[in-house]
Amino acid sequence: MSTVLNQTAPNVPLLINGEFVQSTTGDWIDVTNPATQDVIGRAPVTTDQEMARAIAAAQEAFKSWRNVPVQERMRCLLRYQALLKEHHDELAGILARETGKTFADAKGDVWRGIEVVEHGCSAPTLTQGEMTENVANGIDTHSIVHPIGVCAGITPFNFPAMIPLWMFPLAVVCGNTFVLKPSEQDPLTPTRLAELWHEAGFPAGTLQVVHGRKEQVDYLLEDPAIKAVSFVGSVPVATHVYRTATHNLKRVQCMGGAKNHMVVMPDANKDQVINHLVGASCGAAGQRCMAISVAVLVGEETRAWMDDLREAVAGIRPGPSDDADAAYGPLISPAAKERVEQLIGTAEGEGADLLLDGRGYTVDGYPDGNWVGPTLIDNVRSDMTVYREEIFGPALLVMHVDTLDEAIELVNSNPYGNGTSIFTRSGAAARKYQHETEVGQVGVNIPIPVPAPFFSFTGGKHSFFGDLHPYGKQAFRFYTETRTVISRWPESDLPSGPNMTISMR
Ligand code: NAD
Repeated sequence: MSTVLNQTAPNVPLLINGEFVQSTTGDWIDVTNPATQDVIGRAPVTTDQEMARAIAAAQEAFKSWRNVPVQERMRCLLRYQALLKEHHDELAGILARETGKTFADAKGDVWRGIEVVEHGCSAPTLTQGEMTENVANGIDTHSIVHPIGVCAGITPFNFPAMIPLWMFPLAVVCGNTFVLKPSEQDPLTPTRLAELWHEAGFPAGTLQVVHGRKEQVDYLLEDPAIKAVSFVGSVPVATHVYRTATHNLKRVQCMGGAKNHMVVMPDANKDQVINHLVGASCGAAGQRCMAISVAVLVGEETRAWMDDLREAVAGIRPGPSDDADAAYGPLISPAAKERVEQLIGTAEGEGADLLLDGRGYTVDGYPDGNWVGPTLIDNVRSDMTVYREEIFGPALLVMHVDTLDEAIELVNSNPYGNGTSIFTRSGAAARKYQHETEVGQVGVNIPIPVPAPFFSFTGGKHSFFGDLHPYGKQAFRFYTETRTVISRWPESDLPSGPNMTISMR
């Protein structure tokens, strides 16, 4: 069991140099259960002195950790993987309480993180160098893969297990040390992840966890000791982080927000389409960067599917995390609920058809939850606010076009590029779509095309700023640098004489 989270509403500790310590700050952020508004913890706004101590501890630990053989680093990660699996339900329980996710969804969040940790155990092969003998007369060239130093990670509220696990396990198995600044809205899950990290045997200083808001993020972006920054969050903050950190000459990867379209061809399997549209739009309360938020129905025939789609969306309901029949939970905060409801309101005002209106939704027994009911908005145009902005709520927009070409043009005109999908029985239509669409991750008859962790999460356009994406082989390149050694050992220098023979004992 957790040693630091076993109170009803703990003051969340900082992790610095292997020790969980209480911040001396006077500024604390309430962590609430989104279904009830109960305060279940308080996150400290880390002081500048504590930020400096965390970074210094990571710098100090790097000096020895970088020299630990990669197999030993990997063995720590293997133990971490086993512990995460052992504590899967416990982690999901903490996560469900602070995010409001259904228990099944919370388990999925943890599981996808575990899979990344598993892939991290390939570090010995994925951090190998290369060698070519005799590139010129007697000259050999080899490359060595080195860690880069202290890395920082800044994570959003919506996947408090998976997204931190995209970052620090891979950075650290490469020989780096890490400072994590998780979302202030759900810091309890990352704290438990950090406790298990030390149980797995990782040395003090390999991972620090600090808490706070913009000021703490900016501290990491400005500190010259931080060599690389991984960020996941909204586009405005991703833009700020990318600009500031690159200005300060750091290596940066920033994953931002999204607007994901599912293109539905008239030859698609209607039942599958409707089933997937419901889950992909409203699942996890729409708080997924890969949620399908727009259905693009191609051709006149698909208009006739709207009644069935409406019925299917109306058939789901939100509920608390322990309600096995709930399709999704509450939004993360009253502010998020207000924002989503306000965006739904703009659709009505700007001429779309509000077929299902989730505003003002209530759940019996949970009068204070941040509920938004399933929402369906038809006849949306690309100039409407509800289309231009990321909603991040349980709302599906529907647009109608006549041809696949029109659908592709619509998707390509959107500034976001995280994910998209096409549903069709035509291989030719699918191939044309995956070839011409300018989106980083494409599903063919798959609504949410999130790659398995040995590929990379390749969002594009304004959903990603940087060059190397999270997890997969690209993450190993992001967290390492390559040194090239060119050497010549002329044969004429071979030692001679009885005492100079080269021998291996
Ligand atoms: P957010 O941008 O509000 O916060 C993300 C992190 O940045 C948090 O740790 C927060 O404390 C910090 N932060 C907030 N404001 C800041 C500022 N002004 N300066 C510096 N740091 C700041 O995002 P969120 O609401 O926690 O998460 C939801 C967003 O994340 C959505 O837009 C979603 O699409 C996106 N997201 C993207 C991906 C992806 O892989 N592309 C994955 C998950 C979530």
